[in-house]
Amino acid sequence: MVGLSNDIAHSPKLGAPSNGQSTREHKWDKRSLVIRGKAKSVCTTNEFDRCRMLFHDDMTAGDGAKKGTMENKGRINCGISAKLMTELNSINIPTHFIEQTSPVTQIVHRLDMIPLEFVCRNVVAGSMAERLGLEEGASIAKLSNNVFPCLIDVHLKNDELHDPLISQDIAQALNIVSEKDLNMIVSLTHSINYFLKDYMKPKNIEVIDFKLEFGHDVENKIRLGDEITPDSCRFWEIGTGRKMDKDRFRRNLGLVEETYKELEYTIVGQENS
Ligand code: C5P
Repeated sequence: MVGLSNDIAHSPKLGAPSNGQSTREHKWDKRSLVIRGKAKSVCTTNEFDRCRMLFHDDMTAGDGAKKGTMENKGRINCGISAKLMTELNSINIPTHFIEQTSPVTQIVHRLDMIPLEFVCRNVVAGSMAERLGLEEGASIAKLSNNVFPCLIDVHLKNDELHDPLISQDIAQALNIVSEKDLNMIVSLTHSINYFLKDYMKPKNIEVIDFKLEFGHDVENKIRLGDEITPDSCRFWEIGTGRKMDKDRFRRNLGLVEETYKELEYTIVGQENS
């Protein structure tokens, strides 16, 4: 339902009209619903079209196989996502973010989430490198002789199936997303990529890849939901390639909290502690 992420047990019924009006109204009738995800929780508010999102200190990786907590992670990610989504709102890229109401909570537009994850890749890394036997670090633009500035992968959000990689055609064929909405999401993803790369470059950080989730608000407008944080993006320091994201946790690289704090300082401008 709400702008929550991979963290939330979303079990879409394949073939169900996920963006059909009746489905959405049915979901939204559950006014008091509270969703507890791995990294965030969402609950409804007195206002029908708004939810409250709470960021937790829990950290998971490998489809939940690796679990931990990181002190201050909720605060750091809440602040980073609030800042980046505020910037996106200001350049007319619609997001769910409305306001930050405490170090770890945000008020967001209530969204009926599309059960897809859109992974935008500027540089080969992570599962793409593993799946295709490629070295991490090659630029997609260079590999493709500048035909593709980036690649957009689509994953079905389904815990039982471990969020399989699907194609844009499959997403449409199974009625998970309409052609019009998919075109809009792809266009928004490109715009978000341009913004993020431009925003991070002066901070000496390269945006390697990131994952986005989208949903419809009560007026049926598509908005970016979930989060933009070092949990959902890969950020590498320009020049050194130092990893400044959740790979520090996934790959036991150490200095996880220190690196998240450094990123918070770089993006939000101050430590909120
Ligand atoms: O795992 P993979 O290498 O495909 O991840 C690509 C990008 O998407 C990374 O930035 C990762 O943090 C993000 N991601 C995510 N949630 C997932 C899968 C990937 O935030 N469930």
